[in-house]
Amino acid sequence: MKSFNPPSRTLMGPGPSDVNPRVLLAMARPTIGHLDPSFITMMDEVKEALRYAFKTENKLTMPVSAPGSAGMETCFANLVEPKDKVIVCINGVFGMRMKENVTRFGGQAIIVENNWGEPVSPEKLEKALSENKDAKIVAFVHAETSTGALSDAKKLCKIAHNYNCITIVDAVTSLAGSELLVDEWEIDAIYSGTQKCLSAMPGISPISLNERAIKKVESRKTPVSSWFLDLNLVMSYWNEGAKRAYHHTAPVNTLYGLHEALLILQEEGLENSWSRHQQNHEILKAGLFDIGIKFLVEEQYRLPQLNAVFIPEQANDEKVRSSLLQDYNLEIGAGLGIYAGKVWRIGLMGYASKKENIALCLSALNSVLK
Ligand SMILES: *Cc1c(COP(=O)(O)O)cnc(C)c1O
Repeated sequence: MKSFNPPSRTLMGPGPSDVNPRVLLAMARPTIGHLDPSFITMMDEVKEALRYAFKTENKLTMPVSAPGSAGMETCFANLVEPKDKVIVCINGVFGMRMKENVTRFGGQAIIVENNWGEPVSPEKLEKALSENKDAKIVAFVHAETSTGALSDAKKLCKIAHNYNCITIVDAVTSLAGSELLVDEWEIDAIYSGTQKCLSAMPGISPISLNERAIKKVESRKTPVSSWFLDLNLVMSYWNEGAKRAYHHTAPVNTLYGLHEALLILQEEGLENSWSRHQQNHEILKAGLFDIGIKFLVEEQYRLPQLNAVFIPEQANDEKVRSSLLQDYNLEIGAGLGIYAGKVWRIGLMGYASKKENIALCLSALNSVLK
C-alpha cells in the first residue's frame, strides 16, 4: 500500500460537488476534543450559520453526524409514530426513499404519485389529504436530484397545514442553490446535506425542526426506535448553553470543514448564491441548446443546480461518461431509476457552479460526441 492520492477531477454530477480548497484546508487543522470549550464555541457558530442558510430562527437547527440519508432518517424516526398516516409525494428516487422510511418506522404511507421529471402536484396532494383526514404528516422532496425538478414547497406546506399536517421536506440539493425560506414557508422539519450546494465534504446532514415538529416528537407515546438518531438524546450534546453531555464523538475535522463552508456562504451572501446558480444554469442551457441537447424538465420547474438532459440518440451513455472522466477529468451523473441510460445529470452545485466548469463541460461534451 501507499498513500492515496485521488486524481484531480471536476465534479459536475449530482454530488458530491467540488469542495472549496478553503474547506479542505480547514479540515486539515489539528483535531481537538469534541467537548473542548473552543470546539463548543465553533459548534454554536455552525448552528447559527445553518439558521442563516435555512432562513430560520428554529432553535433545533444542527448538523447530524452522517450523510443526507441520516438527516432523512432523523426526521422520520423522530416524527413518525407506529400507525401514523403519512402522505408521501413521490416524483423521483428520493421520494421513494421517504416512503421506505415511513414504513420502516411503522407508519402507514399514502402515496401521491407524480410523473418523474415533473414537480409534485398541489392538486393531487390536496385530493389525498381530503380523502385521508386522519393523516398526520406530509413529506416531499423540494429539489428532486434524480430528475432535476423543483417543487413549490411554500404551496405544498400551506395545503398540508390546512389539513393539520406537519411537513417533512428534503432540501438536500436545494439548500444554498435555490430559494428556500424555512420560516416564511412554515416548513416544520427539514434536512439537507453538505456535499451538494454547500460544497463541503460529504458526511454531514444539517437539519432544522420548528416548535410544531418538536411538539410532535415530545408527545410520542413510544420511544424513538433509533438510539443514535433520537433527537432527545442528541440534543443533550448539541443544545445551546446547556452543559454538553457525551452522546457520540462528533466528526471534529469534518465540522471544521462545514464551518468554513458556511463562512464562505455568508461572505458571498445566500441570495447571491441562489442567483449565481441561476445565472450559470442559463449559460449552460444556452450552450447545450447549441449542441442540440434537450432538457428533461419543463423550463419553469428546472433546478439550476441539477440539469437533467436527454442523452443524444447516437451516443453511448457509458462510453461518453467514461471518456469525459478519463480524457477530461470531468464527472457528470448518470440517470437514475426509470431514467437510467436515458438522461445525464449535469450538476452546477456550489463551488462547481462557475463559468470555467461550464466551458469545460460544453467543449468536452462537444468533442466526445463528435
Ligand atoms: C443526495 C441526496 C440525498 C442523500 O444524501 P446522502 O448524503 O447521499 O445520504 C437525499 N435526498 C436528495 C434529494 C439528494 O439529492
